[in-house]
Amino acid sequence: MTQQAVLPGSTLGVLGGGQLGRMFALEAIRMGYTVWVLDADPMSPAGCIAHRHLQAPFDDQTALDEMARACDVVTTEFENIPAETLRYLAANTRVAPQASALEVAQDRRREKRAFAQAGVPTVVWAEIATDTDVANAWREVAGAGILKTATLGYDGKGQVRCDSEQALADAVEHLGGVPCVFERMVPLAAEVSVVVARNAAGDAVCLPVGENVHRNGILHTTRVPARVTASIEEAARATALRIAVALDYCGVMAVEFFVTDSGELLANEIAPRPHNSGHYSQLGCAVNQFECQVRAISGLPLLPVTLRQPTAMLNLLGDVWADGEPDWCALQAIEGCELHLYGKQAARAGRKMGHLNLSAATDAALDLALEQACSVLGLHHD
Ligand code: ADP
Ligand code: MG
Repeated sequence: MTQQAVLPGSTLGVLGGGQLGRMFALEAIRMGYTVWVLDADPMSPAGCIAHRHLQAPFDDQTALDEMARACDVVTTEFENIPAETLRYLAANTRVAPQASALEVAQDRRREKRAFAQAGVPTVVWAEIATDTDVANAWREVAGAGILKTATLGYDGKGQVRCDSEQALADAVEHLGGVPCVFERMVPLAAEVSVVVARNAAGDAVCLPVGENVHRNGILHTTRVPARVTASIEEAARATALRIAVALDYCGVMAVEFFVTDSGELLANEIAPRPHNSGHYSQLGCAVNQFECQVRAISGLPLLPVTLRQPTAMLNLLGDVWADGEPDWCALQAIEGCELHLYGKQAARAGRKMGHLNLSAATDAALDLALEQACSVLGLHHD
């Protein structure tokens, strides 16, 4: 039986109060919804702008009961919401995505097994749960690789590059003996990602493929169109959709891919929420990833999402505050440059404080705008 749509005027809940929740809330409020946010941080970026901010931990039953009573559907903006929280809420209200999808995204081992089950290729990898797994993992991966904690890693944290069995053993110890995956290091021609929106009825749309450049393990820029072949682009979209179907996903999710030097497309990881690499859609597409999330979880129609013109996203990390406030006037003087700030107080190095979206009629003009923005921010542009 198809569920009834949750129409504007209803209340949407968000688990997590970060910038993704804030941008979701801004879209939902524009569309006439009331938004509740659950996050213990009184200063959380989404909590600050929500109609109601429940300041409690994710396992606080009183807060969850209140949320279930008030909200017609509850979604997530943070990957590590306890699956139990979603199961608890799901007994009394609609929840999207569902607990099982989060459980897959929260553990690199489950994620890779889910990819394999869906027939989606990944890098060669091995699980390391105990000291004795090290030799096996080194043999299976057969070469230099990256050790990653199975859970709780993000922005390159919890990762160590290893080029010998001894280095691998040391790194396992350094990470505290927690369950890990060891992945073969692949030569990257490019990294791309795809945001998918899918509703409970199984209708799904993909956003245009983004090309991602990371610096120090953190996303630096996303560019669309991605500079990859049409067949890679098509395969990335088809694969992302296949994974969403395999997980019976409801909501917005992103799939990150590696494109290897030999032209292979390998799935890296999924994010069970909107993604930093989808922010370009706020300027580049008529319907952005946050509106897609509202539509997908509410059961409103999902429309094809196309790119209006070449667009890029440049992250504003705390580092650009090192010498004081960036020159906002100079940034806003760049034509086609849209500023997003998340309302965070402390500009720590590596902390995502905001982003710029830049749009131009041609790739060359986009490059010029990016170069200008980087020069104002004191970043080098490549
Ligand atoms: P995170 O959860 O921190 O985003 P990722 O697995 O996406 O972790 O790794 C972060 C970045 O490190 C990737 O976007 C990529 O640039 C690089 N990387 C990770 N794994 C590999 C690999 N197996 N081969 C080559 N580069 C990798
Ligand atoms: Mg990643």
